[in-house]
Amino acid sequence: MLSDIEIAQRSKLKPIREIAQDLGIPERYLLPYGHYKAKVDVNYMKDLKERPDGKLILVTATTPTPAGEGKTTTTVGLTQALVKLGKKAMLCLREPSLGPCFGVKGGAAGGGYSQVLPMEEINLHFTGDIHAVETAHNLLAALLDNHLHQGNPLKIDPREITWRRAMDMNERALRNVVIGLGGRANGFPRESGFDITVASEVMAILCLSSDLADLKERLSKVVVGYDEKGNMITAGDLKAHGAMAALLKEAINPNLVQTIEHVPAFVHGGPFANIAHGTNSIIATKMALKLRDYAVVEAGFASDLGAEKFFDIVCRFAGLSPSAVVLVTTVRALKHHGGVKKEDLSKENLEALSQGLENLKAHLDILSNFGIPVVVALNKFASDTDGEIEMVMEATEERGASIALSEVWEKGGEGGIDLAKKVLEATKEEKSYKPLYELDLPLTEKIRTIATKVYGADDVEYSSGALKTIKNLEEKGFGGLPVCMAKTQLSISDDPQKLGRPKGYKLSVREVRLSAGAGFVVAICGNIMTMPGLPKKPAAESIDIDEEGNITGLF
Ligand code: ADP
Ligand code: MG
Repeated sequence: MLSDIEIAQRSKLKPIREIAQDLGIPERYLLPYGHYKAKVDVNYMKDLKERPDGKLILVTATTPTPAGEGKTTTTVGLTQALVKLGKKAMLCLREPSLGPCFGVKGGAAGGGYSQVLPMEEINLHFTGDIHAVETAHNLLAALLDNHLHQGNPLKIDPREITWRRAMDMNERALRNVVIGLGGRANGFPRESGFDITVASEVMAILCLSSDLADLKERLSKVVVGYDEKGNMITAGDLKAHGAMAALLKEAINPNLVQTIEHVPAFVHGGPFANIAHGTNSIIATKMALKLRDYAVVEAGFASDLGAEKFFDIVCRFAGLSPSAVVLVTTVRALKHHGGVKKEDLSKENLEALSQGLENLKAHLDILSNFGIPVVVALNKFASDTDGEIEMVMEATEERGASIALSEVWEKGGEGGIDLAKKVLEATKEEKSYKPLYELDLPLTEKIRTIATKVYGADDVEYSSGALKTIKNLEEKGFGGLPVCMAKTQLSISDDPQKLGRPKGYKLSVREVRLSAGAGFVVAICGNIMTMPGLPKKPAAESIDIDEEGNITGLF
C-alpha cells in the first residue's frame, strides 16, 4: 500500500472551475486560488436563501489514540460512497493546523483513497486563513499593549489582561512569557503567553459568524481584560474590530477543494475540539446544505468533545440539526481502551477488545442524549482479524445500534457503500436534536450536566479562581451562555490516563475564560493546554522537499 501522500500525488485532479460548475456556483462568486483551490464568496449565500436545505450528517468517533482513528478519512469516504449511490453530496472539514502537522498526528486531509486534495497545500498554509486569524488576533494584542504604552486612557489594569498572543505552532516554550522588557521605550513589562491559533477566540468567531457584519459585531465584543474598577474592556473599546474584520475579509469565504474521487469539499475554519468548539465554519456547512442534498461534517475528536459541542453550541447558534450521526471506531482504539500497548495493537486480542468495547458503549450512551439516529462505522485496518471485526459488529448490534464495516481508506467510496446505505436509512427518521442543557441554568449546573451525563463523572470540583470567574461572569450578565469545555481528547474524563469508560471521579475545572464574541464560556479541565508541545520525535524531522518541489513525509 502506498503512503497517503503518494496516493495523493498520483491522483489526477479536475480543475476547480469544473467542480464549482458541477455545483452550479456562478463564475462571479468563485475566487480561484491557483488551479485546484477556490474560495466561494460568502455573499453567494444571499442568492441561495430561498433554496431548501439538504440533510446534515455528523461524523464523530469513540475515544481516539494519539494517531487519530479515521474520522476525516470516514467523512471523505462516506461522502464518496453517497455520490457512488447517485446522491448529491459534499463534505465539510476543518482546515489543518500546522502545529499537529509537524507533531505526532501529521496532516488532517484524510487518508488512503479517501483524501481531500491537494493534500500538501491543504496541510501547509492552504489559502492562508489560519494566518489571517493569527494576524487579527495579534493585532488586537499589539493595540492593547500600545494602549498601555501611550498613556492608557481606558485605565486598563495591566494585571487583569486576559487577551494573550497566538501562533500556529506547537510551541511549549511560549506558553508563558514576560513581554515589554528593555526599559521605557518598550512598553510595560507584564506576563502574557501564547495559545495555538486554532484555540483563539478569533478562530471560533470566524467559524460561528454568518457574514462579515456579524463577524465584525462579534469581534467588537471580545473581552481583552478589565479596567482598574473591574469593568470589562473589549476590542470595540480599543477600536480594533474594524481592522480585525478587514484582515479576515478573505478568510470568511469558504474554501472549495475536491476529494480523490472529485467529490466537492469545503475545508474552512479550524478550531480544535479539545480546547475550542471543534467544527468547520457555519458558513461552509450552511452553503453545503444549500448546494447539495447531503452535507457530511466532521466534528473533532470523540463524541464527548466535538459532538457535544456541535449539538450544544453550533446547532443551537446556527439553527441546524443533523439527520444522522456516524460514530467512527476502530478495533485498534478499542483494544487500546482494553489496555493493549501501542506496539501490540496489531496483534489479535479478543479479551482486551471485549473490555475496550465499554468505550464504544459509552459513546453510544452519550449520543443517545441528543436523540439523533446513530450508525457506527468500523474503520477497517489491515491488521484487524475476522474474529475481532465480528466481535465489534455483534456487540454493537446487541445494543440495538446500526453498524457497517468501512473500507474507505483502502477502497475509496466503493468501500463505504454499506455504510452509506445505513446512513441514508437513518436519515429517513426525520428526528430533530435535543440539547443536553437549557441555557437558563447557572453555569455550574451546565458544567455539572456535561460532566455527569457525558463524561460519567460523579461531580465537579473547581479551583477557587474558576469559581471566582464564574461568579463575576454571572454578575456581569454572561451566565446564559453555553459552555465550551476544554478537556483532553484521550479519555472521556479529564485525565488522559483513564481509559475505557471512567467512573467514580470528580471533573476538575481549573480555569474559566469568557469568549464573549464567540458567545460561550470556556471551562478548562484537568491539565489540558491551550498551546500544545512537540513530541520527542516530531513528524517535521521526516518532512522534506526535492528540487522540483515534491514534498515527502507528510501524512
Ligand atoms: P481523525 O480525523 O480521526 O483524526 P484521520 O482520518 O485523519 O483521523 O486518520 C488518521 C491517520 O490514520 C491518517 O494518517 C490516515 O491515513 C490513517 N488511517 C485512517 N484510517 C485508516 C485505515 N483504515 N487503515 C490505515 N490507516 C488509516
Ligand atoms: Mg480529522
